[in-house]
Amino acid sequence: MEHDLVSDDRVSMNGQEEVNGQGELTGTPVVAGYAFGPALWPGGRVEHDDRLLGMDRTLAEEDRDAEADRLVAAAATVAGRLRNRASHASGAAAEVLNATAGLAEDRGWIGAADKLIAVGTPAPAAVVAATQTFAEMFAKLGGLMAERITDLNDVRDRVVAELLGEPEPGIPTPTQPSILLADDLAPADTAGLDPTVIVGLVTRFGGPTSHTAIIARQLGIPCVVAVARLGEITSGTEVLVDGAAGSVVVEPDPVSAQELVDRGAAEAALVAAWSGPGRTADGVEVAILANVADGASARRAADAPVEGIGLFRTELAFLDRGDEPGVDEQTRLYRHVLDAFDGRKVVIRTLDAGSDKPLAFIEHPDEANPALGVRGNRIAVDHPEIVRGQLDAIARAGAETGSRPWVMAPMIATAAEAAQFARMVRERGLTAGVMIEIPAAAILARAILAEVDFVSIGTNDLTQYTMAADRMSAELAELTDPWQPAVLALIAQVADAGADLGKPVGVCGEAAADPALACVLVGLGVTSLSAAPAATPAVGAKLSTVTLDQCRAAAEAVLQTTSPTSARRAAAEHLDA
Ligand code: PEP
Ligand code: MG
Repeated sequence: MEHDLVSDDRVSMNGQEEVNGQGELTGTPVVAGYAFGPALWPGGRVEHDDRLLGMDRTLAEEDRDAEADRLVAAAATVAGRLRNRASHASGAAAEVLNATAGLAEDRGWIGAADKLIAVGTPAPAAVVAATQTFAEMFAKLGGLMAERITDLNDVRDRVVAELLGEPEPGIPTPTQPSILLADDLAPADTAGLDPTVIVGLVTRFGGPTSHTAIIARQLGIPCVVAVARLGEITSGTEVLVDGAAGSVVVEPDPVSAQELVDRGAAEAALVAAWSGPGRTADGVEVAILANVADGASARRAADAPVEGIGLFRTELAFLDRGDEPGVDEQTRLYRHVLDAFDGRKVVIRTLDAGSDKPLAFIEHPDEANPALGVRGNRIAVDHPEIVRGQLDAIARAGAETGSRPWVMAPMIATAAEAAQFARMVRERGLTAGVMIEIPAAAILARAILAEVDFVSIGTNDLTQYTMAADRMSAELAELTDPWQPAVLALIAQVADAGADLGKPVGVCGEAAADPALACVLVGLGVTSLSAAPAATPAVGAKLSTVTLDQCRAAAEAVLQTTSPTSARRAAAEHLDA
């Protein structure tokens, strides 16, 4: 370690040794930055005492209707409170609170509890039993559904507290700035966090795309997830969170820790002052672009210091649609996005439907393994009319706004798929590209690049498929870390191919949102970086402090490593010099 916070002999090879007073734990980094303060564990989730819940009682028949009404009222109160908090929040926090409110009023869940009440189970016991049934069902379904279990249990606890007349459970408000430690946080808890008192966030479970991670990013709270032995740190113990390295140092030297926090604050000031355009300290230009989902997010992105849009995820605009949007409607949507960036570069991705983003108007076959099934561009095989309609709308929006959007297809595996897509795009006078998200496409990047004008690397899926690890799995967070050297080696291959053919190679996955990794990507030869707008100032600011030679040295160094932790350390040696 660069700083003398813990002496090396106290830290084991896996960085997880002698907790409380002597060591450092490592997990998956989510939000960069340092935080130092006492650890705070929230009180345990509500303990369900069988008698209090009414497990041992049967309601008289004449009381059952009123009990069912009591449940509906309690669920509505909980949902109302969450919605009220949502109305005072913004962005992801508001979305998460609204989604949790929706769960509280879910008809299926309330219906299941109602059935139990109808046979005499008191409402609190019915809520617990119904939740258990749903949680088991979600666990069997796995993936995204399994991630909803935390949300469901949170709703259960809130509704039970309401029914029992207890205060709503949640995170305590500490009297001094503290580091919140938890197994995993319920979305509604995370969304209500006050970053002036909760200065760092560490969870034992959860992956880089969990709700905790999304909200921590929005609030800018240094955050590390998937710290396996977190339970060994007790409340009140002083800890230093290094959100970039993904480490938690237990009882560090307070002076050095405070120095790091101060340095982090200085870096934050640099980030706040950065206004683009993207370039290294020695003036090498690297376009920094935004990921958007619709017209509104594009207009917000236009306020960020970005040069254009590197990824417009069109499917996100249609997630709640039962019918296919027509060409006119789509044209309007694409115009909104193009107008927001008025002649600047806009990369539109065709629908990436299927797997974790099913679209109701596209029939998805029942697949045992949807992430490896008919998703993304593969849908075009059975539904060429959907792609044609989308490309027609993009071309029309381009013509009407006087711009020439770049268009790329998701989930391309072969050069033949790339060639076929490029033909359709070019027929409409648009610039054709594809995403590199499948290892096969990275390995044969040269052949794919020969067919298109540009590629953009989707590191989220490229990591998932390279490591054979579900990107939504909390347990596999270390494998789905984009710092995995195997993923970086594939990116290097793609960038080399792009340089040889003189074609742009962008990155639009979460990797581009990590300032240090973004510098490594530039060193590997990536020509543009596209990320959530909120992440772009930190990326641009970091890039402005390093030369291309430093980026290249960092890139070379990470390619010699064998784990995300050693890759991060190797990069830091060159980038923080
Ligand atoms: C990716 O896979 O990295 C990507 C940008 O696409 P999405 O996250 O929408 O799958
Ligand atoms: Mg993807």
